[in-house]
Amino acid sequence: MKMKCTAIVLAAGKGKRMNSDVPKQYLFLEDKPVLYYSLQVFQDSFIDEIVLVTSESDVEYCRNKIVEKYGFDKVHSIVAGGKERYHSVFAGIMAAGECDYIFIHDGARPFVTAQILQRAYECVIQHGACVVGMPSKDTVKLANEDGFASLTPDRDLVWMIQTPQVFSFSLIKRAYMSLIEEEEALVSRGIKITDDAMVVETFTDKKVKLVEGRYENIKITTPEDLKIAVTFLGKDDNSR
Ligand code: C5P
Repeated sequence: MKMKCTAIVLAAGKGKRMNSDVPKQYLFLEDKPVLYYSLQVFQDSFIDEIVLVTSESDVEYCRNKIVEKYGFDKVHSIVAGGKERYHSVFAGIMAAGECDYIFIHDGARPFVTAQILQRAYECVIQHGACVVGMPSKDTVKLANEDGFASLTPDRDLVWMIQTPQVFSFSLIKRAYMSLIEEEEALVSRGIKITDDAMVVETFTDKKVKLVEGRYENIKITTPEDLKIAVTFLGKDDNSR
């Protein structure tokens, strides 16, 4: 039986690291905004509904210039996000109707593919919680506050985490409700929530499975990422 799947596509970030007045998800890649590319992949997939999260001031722009213009009729709501990524995800979860699985995706990752969605779907059915990523090619070091290397994890066990991050709806809703309740305590302890798996790891006993994405599934964050993205667009083999 096909499960009901909803995607939350995040586009409410300000993109401070891009040094541009236009947030990274709205910069143009060839003749379309970055956000268009991932929405098109979700639109063409088995995903049933999409919730688009954007900043309050961009809701109308997204509705007119992206959703209606390109005919993304799976987008059933466009909601305002919040200050941190996790506020935006919470707004998306609250706007999503009842479903079996939620796919949370960064709108700044245009190179997600149908195959990644399929792998994540099969994985979440088996494990209830999974995140897409790739094994790290580089050695990773943890630095101390003075900028000295303090720990080198075994590279074979290090993954670079991407999106989508996929969870059963009840699990992710419960985890995010706990996060919002305990937000103040976490902030005062200096804990920064940077992905959804971290919310599940922190507030539930559920183990989050890692599933292969692709190295091309980059997040457009800094100016050089745009140059890489232009290269991928022309020559990308998106059969993985
Ligand atoms: O800031 P970061 O690179 O982690 O953003 C990842 C994704 O989350 C981007 O697509 C961005 O638009 C989104 N985001 C958001 N709300 C925020 C911060 C980031 O929707 N407050």
